[in-house]
Amino acid sequence: MKAAVLRGKKDIRIESVPDPVADPDGIIVKVKACGVCGSDLHVYKAEGNEGTIFGHEFSGEVAEVGAKVSDITVGERVTAVGFRPCGECFWCKQGKGFRCSALALVGYQLPGAMAEYVAVPSAVKGRNVFPLPEELTFEDAATVEPLSISLYSVKKAQPREKDIVAVMGAGVIGLSAIQILKSMGVSKVLVSARRPSRLQAARESGSDLVIDAATQDTVAEIMAATGDMGVDIVVECAGSPISFDQSIEILRGGGKMMLVGIYETPLSWDPANVINKNISLIGCLGGNFPGSIDLLKTGKVTTRNFVTHRFPLDKTAEAFETQISDPGAIKVMIIP
Ligand SMILES: [Zn+2]
Ligand SMILES: [Zn+2]
Repeated sequence: MKAAVLRGKKDIRIESVPDPVADPDGIIVKVKACGVCGSDLHVYKAEGNEGTIFGHEFSGEVAEVGAKVSDITVGERVTAVGFRPCGECFWCKQGKGFRCSALALVGYQLPGAMAEYVAVPSAVKGRNVFPLPEELTFEDAATVEPLSISLYSVKKAQPREKDIVAVMGAGVIGLSAIQILKSMGVSKVLVSARRPSRLQAARESGSDLVIDAATQDTVAEIMAATGDMGVDIVVECAGSPISFDQSIEILRGGGKMMLVGIYETPLSWDPANVINKNISLIGCLGGNFPGSIDLLKTGKVTTRNFVTHRFPLDKTAEAFETQISDPGAIKVMIIP
């Protein structure tokens, strides 16, 4: 089959690779849509990841099921998350493979969905393989993974109706967070982002205030919008050191910072403000696929207008460059 293979720093090539074979407890999915993710970009821009086939935000049709898989059928429309626990570590030995310290992920250590087919190991319906209701297109379904991170993070923040929440960064995760927070009825959602397309999408998603971080002072705008009190919760999706520092500045005493974005460069920060303001820094690695599929199905959230560009598999390299630098790009999809 054809696959997009990383052959060096910023060097993706289309190659012919062996067709994947299903594990006895795994499945093979014929890929119909696959999103380019910010996490992919970090790996794409770094040295030493030769051989990676990206793609963890995908959907498709089940093409093959392993001998031990009984509840998934060929032809089913699905989205899935793929990982293989090491089987050796402390958590694996307790049967808690999902906490494995050396988890191999589809799209990084295991071949991903920027290919015609992708193997999903340890396939269990409802746990890591999710059938699609007919309301969802394959493209909708390929946004379920980032949406699920958003839903997980917002729920973990436990926002109250009187809370003012700031969302830093407006990719699919941040934009979905705005819609989820608005559907929960929080008092106000204030957003800081860059790129015209994202600012526009943040407005359309129902934000009460949208700040253009490229031309406006995020901290000053948020303090002015909150009567100098700051916000109760920050959902930090930008993953930039500046955004991290700003988040701590705009939080009021006792506030919570939900850490969602991945930092490309190491942070250097002074914990004094975190201590003095009694701020909670909360890591958010997790997802909620069933909840996210339901949000899309019921229309409480729509990610459809976040998909700004589509490329065939042959043009995966162009898709990555578009996701990195096109001012109009929110989510770029590969349609194999
Ligand atoms: Zn992702
Ligand atoms: Zn393990």
